[in-house]
Amino acid sequence: MAKLHLPFNTRRAICLAHRKLCVYCGEPIAFTDLDIEHIIPETRAQNAEEWAATKAEYGLPDTFDINSLANLVPAHHNPCNLNKGSRLFSPARARYFLEIAASKEPTVLQYARAIVLEEGKEKVLGSIKSAIERGEVTLPEIVVGVADNDTFPLSAELEFADGVSKKTLIRSEIDSLLDRPVLVGRSR
Ligand SMILES: [Zn+2]
Repeated sequence: MAKLHLPFNTRRAICLAHRKLCVYCGEPIAFTDLDIEHIIPETRAQNAEEWAATKAEYGLPDTFDINSLANLVPAHHNPCNLNKGSRLFSPARARYFLEIAASKEPTVLQYARAIVLEEGKEKVLGSIKSAIERGEVTLPEIVVGVADNDTFPLSAELEFADGVSKKTLIRSEIDSLLDRPVLVGRSR
């Protein structure tokens, strides 16, 4: 079986979900020393018979995927993961780490999505930078433009006749909203 190659972003998401702490020693991990570790070693799934026996012994569902987030945790490459190597924990100890991995799974997925958004942000920042470099826009214009799009809270909710109600306003929206009839005199 080929060794699992996890994308960089997935590795990062797993590490962030565990607050950059090694699951085995609890100490912070530098990204350069990060291993994404299989709680149940990959080697266990190489042979179908052995894998079936391991799943039975460890109370794992038959569908358990050795490479899923439910089996992956961050650990120091050295010494934590090197010490463990491809050894198999006792069922109780494995269960403990598997529970940790399962509890972090939603957070890993949230981080994975957030990282994608961050990549989008880099693109936006990149195009702003090139626009400045090409002289299409100046930094003061961008700063004022951003400030103009600030949202600010209203002291009371505004209700418009067309059913729209607003608790916050975006500065750039104000002009269009001024044309809308507002419901007045409503007690709340
Ligand atoms: Zn460690």
